[in-house]
Amino acid sequence: MILLKNMSNLAALPSVEKLASSLAREVSLPRPLVNLFVRREIDRFRQLLLAGGDHNREEIEKATRQGLIEFANSRLQPVINATGVLIHTNLGRSPLGPRAAKALEKIATGYSNLEFDLPSGARGKRAGYLETALACLLETEAATAVNNCAAALVLTLRTLVEEGKNEVIVSRSELVEIGGGFRIPEILETSGAKLVEVGATNKTHLYDYEKAITPQTALILKVHRSNFYIDGFTGEPEIPEIARLAHDHGLPLVEDLGSGAMMNTEELAPIEHEPTPQECLRRGIDLVIFSGDKLLGGPQSGIIGGRADLVAKIKKEPFFRAVRCDKLILTTLQESIDQYLETKADPTKADVPVLKFLRTSVDELRQRAEQIIANLGTEHTKISIEETTARPGGGTMPRSEFPSIAIKLAPKTQSVPKLASKLRLGATAIVGYTTDDALYLDLRTIFPETDGQVQTALEAALA
Ligand SMILES: *Cc1c(COP(=O)(O)O)cnc(C)c1O
Repeated sequence: MILLKNMSNLAALPSVEKLASSLAREVSLPRPLVNLFVRREIDRFRQLLLAGGDHNREEIEKATRQGLIEFANSRLQPVINATGVLIHTNLGRSPLGPRAAKALEKIATGYSNLEFDLPSGARGKRAGYLETALACLLETEAATAVNNCAAALVLTLRTLVEEGKNEVIVSRSELVEIGGGFRIPEILETSGAKLVEVGATNKTHLYDYEKAITPQTALILKVHRSNFYIDGFTGEPEIPEIARLAHDHGLPLVEDLGSGAMMNTEELAPIEHEPTPQECLRRGIDLVIFSGDKLLGGPQSGIIGGRADLVAKIKKEPFFRAVRCDKLILTTLQESIDQYLETKADPTKADVPVLKFLRTSVDELRQRAEQIIANLGTEHTKISIEETTARPGGGTMPRSEFPSIAIKLAPKTQSVPKLASKLRLGATAIVGYTTDDALYLDLRTIFPETDGQVQTALEAALA
């Protein structure tokens, strides 16, 4: 009886074809995707109805429409970052500069000499130019690049450990989680390395490293504490001391540096000094590993630089092939690196968006904010310009905050989440941050050329 009753509930289900036809006009998605989405939603409601759920047709159509719009919004699209977090992991980390973008278009839409030697007309070496440019920039013997920093670390560890000699020594203060499931102990395990933890959370001594060295030791690994800091009763040996110890035992010293700043960050803004790969290598690190799309401002990639024999060995490891960069990454990285080489005398001048954002003066941000809000109606919203703090983000310089300017919107006739949602779902998505009573749009991370779009979006959202 119950089953029969539930079967009769199914009359509430709309036809997939009809609903998909009407919804296809509301979203600009390929039609097969609309059909699939609608079919899945109706199947889901069928199950709910059969289980005795109470849903009428109007409700089912409304929920399907809402779900489809949300799905359409999940399509990768540009976002205006008004969070004040420069390297925002959720918003695509570092934007590429115009020069890299132009090069990308040319290489992406045509053929290239990716693995072709133009002088001889024979098969050529992939990324040969880039590797030399990287080594030149890093002032070291050799360098290469793979898909991301995590892959670079796994690849390096895989290459440098072998059976019977697979122990990797890491200080307990550096067994970090970077985010997105990236934990040093797990990365080591994946790479076939055996973790040997030394020292304590707050203090590691040179003798801790020394005592841990055995004939099974493959290398010593340093991991930069890029997204947190420890303070108080802390201490660790200087890199040159660890390097001397490692080299006395014939072991390589590898550092996972993370962010890859190419300049003295403290010259850009009142922020802490982020160690550069060059500095690490000068101090005795044999291989340094860092991301291409954090402070470097290039594409997602993982760069490995240092001793030529080790880089050569890494390139011969079969796993290298599995994580090698494609031509789109190689060309954007090549532009980024050339740019730094051209501004080597003063790398803070490199035409990289995140560096420009760091350098922009508070006065300039304030002027732009004033212009954006100049003609906005304040009938429904209290609008003001506030001094705020921006952050580097992306797991870099966790202690650093620097002054910024935000437009503060305190709505009188709608809720803060409602206003925030309108801006996220507008013609161009704008993502700010909210407090209890207001939405903030931080100017520091907004491209000046999109100020007009912010203004238009605000006019619509505040009306
Ligand atoms: C960010 C970071 C990584 C991971 O870099 P991806 O490019 O995201 O793979 C690894 N190590 C450190 C220390 C980092 O800061």
